[in-house]
Amino acid sequence: MTFKELHIIEPILRALKAEGYAEPTPIQEQAVPSVLTGRDLLACAQTGTGKTAAFAVPVLQRLNAENQQRPAQPDGGKARKIRALVLTPTRELALQIFDSFRAYGRFLRLRCCVVFGGVNQNNQVQALKRGVDILVATPGRLNDLIGQGFIQLDQVEIFVLDEADRMLDMGFINDVKKVIAQIPQEKQTLLFSATIPPEIQEIADRVLRTDKAVIE
Ligand code: AMP
Repeated sequence: MTFKELHIIEPILRALKAEGYAEPTPIQEQAVPSVLTGRDLLACAQTGTGKTAAFAVPVLQRLNAENQQRPAQPDGGKARKIRALVLTPTRELALQIFDSFRAYGRFLRLRCCVVFGGVNQNNQVQALKRGVDILVATPGRLNDLIGQGFIQLDQVEIFVLDEADRMLDMGFINDVKKVIAQIPQEKQTLLFSATIPPEIQEIADRVLRTDKAVIE
């Protein structure tokens, strides 16, 4: 199987080639077609399997396809609202995911931004003000910035919950629930977790649509 056979568009194929990715990993082969058709996804996946590209590549492709149908924005995109939100437990993961979106999307016109705690928020707020299509965030800082009015999630179309079981272990579950309550009901959700403890199953049952794809 090749990325081309997964119907990945040319600018992303070029970026993947530049990354040195010869062919999709098994999780990418399974996840990409479902995500591209707009289905929800529940994936039991460990780090190191290529799970970041399994969601980042089809998310970029879906947002890009919609961009083609939109008129050019006279303000240079400043009014852009967040259309994809990726929630992940740690700063390191957030930065890795952000770097991946930038790498795979380097030939597309989509803006990605990352916010996480433990650092001054000013640079993050400045970046948000320039307009964002894809936001990668850790839950605490995200809720802080929502509370201060710097982030609105009412236009989110795709929601990725990454390492859900680690969120639970790290005590972020209430923060995650608070974030979910801010996102429109009508959206595509991709949930990644190495294990599915009852608290995560409960979120999956509540958030994921019944025709979801499941990768075990
Ligand atoms: P992840 O599981 O997303 O943390 O990815 C693990 C590592 O695999 C990262 O260093 C990726 O750059 C790399 N990777 C992801 N997809 C592929 C692929 N299709 N071919 C080769 N390497 C990949």
